[in-house]
Amino acid sequence: EAKRHGRNRVAFFDPRLREAMAERLRLQTDLRRALEQDELALHYQAQVDTRSGALTGVEALLRWDHPTLGPVSPAVFVPIAEESGLIVPIGRWVLREACRQLAAWRGAGFSGVRVAVNLSVRQTRDEQLPDFIDALLGEFGLAPACLELEITESVLMEEADLAIGLLARLRARGLRLAIDDFGTGYSSMAYLQRLPIDALKIDMTFVRDIPGDGEAITTAILAMAHGLGLCVVAEGVETQAQHDFLRAAGCDQIQGYRIARPVPPDDVLARWHADATEAVPG
Ligand code: C2E
Ligand code: MG
Ligand code: MG
Ligand code: MG
Repeated sequence: EAKRHGRNRVAFFDPRLREAMAERLRLQTDLRRALEQDELALHYQAQVDTRSGALTGVEALLRWDHPTLGPVSPAVFVPIAEESGLIVPIGRWVLREACRQLAAWRGAGFSGVRVAVNLSVRQTRDEQLPDFIDALLGEFGLAPACLELEITESVLMEEADLAIGLLARLRARGLRLAIDDFGTGYSSMAYLQRLPIDALKIDMTFVRDIPGDGEAITTAILAMAHGLGLCVVAEGVETQAQHDFLRAAGCDQIQGYRIARPVPPDDVLARWHADATEAVPG
């Protein structure tokens, strides 16, 4: 009892901790308004074929332009949104906005690419999610294969059975599923084999160690994933040396600043137009 009080007292009087808590609370309050006030946006980062460089898809990444703080990183506000449950309406907004954007791109002739959306742990507990996604695809006239959902390895470990059930339902509808940040959790091969997934994204901490220890880890992940029939994407590719290694190692796709940073939707289209023009012979 005394100990519990003691701990509370520490939490209450430690000014740094108190400030951090106040900051979180403030962001949580502001985030509630952000959705209505149009402060959230999606940027898109290219995913390309490692060999040909052809665009295979784009990953949608949330951006929050706070009215007084300026841009707030999703690494900061996504966990806050998860804690408060706000990630459920925000996550639905992300799915809807990504589908709307993809349909608009297709209308402009930009076809054949997929959009990947990050799914949070809370959303994997949402029984309504498959119906919500069905309705979205119908509304925007998109085939399920256009949409890829990224779920982090840690989420899958945490929520194993529930998440697997929901993911299996989504995949049965034809959506693509990818494990994000692979290698940072502790999934076994047996567990991986049980997952209803199409692709695996090698976490950028390993890519950062190329050249170096990241090479052996990447090679091992590629052998395992390809053995299970999965497509492999390497994240956070920043250098020519990393790109060269990944090409030689047989990694299917890459994503990273080396290829493109996450950019607003108009820039994706502008770059696609530029690439198309470049490709014209003569
Ligand atoms: P993630 O899904 O693993 O996304 C990759 C992150 O790496 C992005 O950070 C991206 O901008 C960054 N990145 C890409 N290439 C490079 C590179 O070459 N070097 C480096 N250093 N970084 C690179 P970002 O946009 O800050 O997002 C951070 C995380 O926030 C994401 O990690 C994802 O877990 C989460 N997140 C972002 N958008 C959403 C969303 O719509 N919903 C949910 N639930 N989570 C999201
Ligand atoms: Mg991701
Ligand atoms: Mg990742
Ligand atoms: Mg991440």
